Amino acid sequence: MVSKLAICFTISCNQLLQDFLLSYRWCNFLTKVMAKENFFRKAENHSFPDFKKENEGCWNGPFYFIQGADTQLGLIENYIEKKPNPGWEKEIKLTKAAIEAINAMTPRPHFFVVCGDLIDAFPGTSLRKPQEEDFFRLFKELHPDIPLVCVCGNHDVGNNPTHESIQVYNNSFGDDYFTFYVGGVMFIVINSQFFKAPEQVQDLAEEQERWLEEQLAEAKSGKYKHVLVFQHIPWFIKKSDEEDSYFNIDSEIREKMLQKLYDANVRAVFCGHWHGNAGGFYKDLEVVVTSAVGGQLRGDKSGFRVVKLKDKCIKHEYYAFEDAPKNISLD
Ligand SMILES: [Zn+2]
Repeated sequence: MVSKLAICFTISCNQLLQDFLLSYRWCNFLTKVMAKENFFRKAENHSFPDFKKENEGCWNGPFYFIQGADTQLGLIENYIEKKPNPGWEKEIKLTKAAIEAINAMTPRPHFFVVCGDLIDAFPGTSLRKPQEEDFFRLFKELHPDIPLVCVCGNHDVGNNPTHESIQVYNNSFGDDYFTFYVGGVMFIVINSQFFKAPEQVQDLAEEQERWLEEQLAEAKSGKYKHVLVFQHIPWFIKKSDEEDSYFNIDSEIREKMLQKLYDANVRAVFCGHWHGNAGGFYKDLEVVVTSAVGGQLRGDKSGFRVVKLKDKCIKHEYYAFEDAPKNISLD
């Protein structure tokens, strides 16, 4: 009798355990499917859905994020190899390598920001849509706990943006400028094309400028451990007084803006566009130029930057994908 009862009890326990495991697996599976469907959180109303001030306004100790730039699907065969019918298989492989390296990191980065030139095809051109589709298809593989933050580059909104080209970008990728907060750090994302070539979008450039004034007033309040800026075109590549070029912002605007950012406690600006690693200082504000996830123009290897936010400083290092660390120390 006792042994029969014991058998019955074991069977029902087993059944319960199996049912539990099955529903747990289903829940897990459904959560993953849903996360993949909603993997891309668009910035809207000039903020980012995951990272609001209400929830993320307080410093909880050091953390890190990954900064990349210029995935630029299509650049290699179009611009470097000058093929008649350029594809973007090479950038697909490189972007996959970036995502795999990031997914393998412990602890997980708080987000992955791509500082512009997400794709190569300008708005309104025939390759725009297929490149956008491949970009989103690729980033579905980024772990759902690591939000992707997109910054617009000159290829994303056009070298001389118009209302239409900005709209094309906004429809697919969300706002072109916004603020977000993670663990007591304020991040300001700007559309650098409004500083580079605002001629056809003066009204939109002025709107961004007014908005930026408000954000810098908030940054100046001293409530945040660090204030960082993300943009595509760097204010300068190596020296704050270098000559104007395709790769930087004109010196007149540069000087004025760097001082404004400096006055608002910004001490690091992360950029791309140069397809090589560079950067320098304006006072003790560092402009960091990060090479491309995609095609290289200065002999670097494709990679990304690990950026650690510590109590007293911001530390960053560029890694080729093959050299990317798996265990990240925040000490
Ligand atoms: Zn660019």
